[in-house]
Amino acid sequence: MLDPPKSEEVLVRIIATGICHTDLVARDYVMGSPNFPVILGHEGSGIIESVGEDVHHLKVGDHVVLSYGFCGECEICRNGTPQYCYEFFTRNFSGGRVDGSHSHHYHDGKAINDNFFSQSSFATYAIAHKNNVIAVPKDAPLELLGPLGCGLQTGAGAIINSLRVRVGSSVIITGTGAVGLAALMAAKATSATTIIAVDINDERLAFAMELGATHTINSLSENVSQRILEILPKGVQYAVDTTGRNEVINSVLSSMRPTGEMICIGVAQKPLALETNIFLTKGYKIKFINQGDSVSAEFIPKLIKMYQNGQFPFDKLIKKYSFEDINQAVEDSEKGRTIKSVLLIGEYGN
Ligand SMILES: [Zn+2]
Ligand SMILES: [Zn+2]
Repeated sequence: MLDPPKSEEVLVRIIATGICHTDLVARDYVMGSPNFPVILGHEGSGIIESVGEDVHHLKVGDHVVLSYGFCGECEICRNGTPQYCYEFFTRNFSGGRVDGSHSHHYHDGKAINDNFFSQSSFATYAIAHKNNVIAVPKDAPLELLGPLGCGLQTGAGAIINSLRVRVGSSVIITGTGAVGLAALMAAKATSATTIIAVDINDERLAFAMELGATHTINSLSENVSQRILEILPKGVQYAVDTTGRNEVINSVLSSMRPTGEMICIGVAQKPLALETNIFLTKGYKIKFINQGDSVSAEFIPKLIKMYQNGQFPFDKLIKKYSFEDINQAVEDSEKGRTIKSVLLIGEYGN
């Protein structure tokens, strides 16, 4: 059973939900995940069914994308960086509301863990908080928009919000999953001149070329730092790492131009070990970011506009599955057969 929304909450009929790496990490209980049983899903899109009495900027019938939760009141949120909210963990990973309550219960009244990313959108209906419900234009394809709320804003935001890549820059992107390819499309949209994609899968690298990469490197068969310096003898200016792998990060750093900037997004399997003595005289900046440094309420509408102008064709990354095929969708994502799986959950007419 699902309770009605509380005063600051919104009830959303889910139309579709993307599958993101973090859902699988939570399923496998790798990092501080909520206890089971839990309703996961955190790239939901849908239509508002009802709103609590303290929600004024949204209304019944609005098309919305659900993004990450944040309090909106702490000094970090008020500073314009809600993606680093003090309550980020509680509001996204704790398996309940901040006060420990839940909106889902069994018929005998026992609570089910929920509120994953303030939404738990692997479901036909979701309760979200007013802060993480983003209204989107009705002429955009609602069933495709959910991944903008996490994976796609993470990659695109690294380029646009964190690095602020400009016309004529050089960029390297290591790892060509959904996050890496979103970064790549954003780099092309910003008119970076040299865009290098690195992966171990030749098929993905060919696809990266289609999306706008100017060069590719297969890190299994080629020496990454050597190849970067062949392409850019003075070194690469910007890097986005989605692999979290020491050897990849060190190879890229050793071929960056002085004052180069690297963004780290990949979940590292091992502690990061940098060859710092080589880098001390380079002035590099390395930044660890969450959600592409994105303020979703501003960035998601911007990405939709870019999509509608043909500058951010993220639909090319998506494969749709029906909700009952969730296990197939997860398997295809894990095996790299699908870049971004989206589960079709509800129907809507335009
Ligand atoms: Zn906060
Ligand atoms: Zn995610």
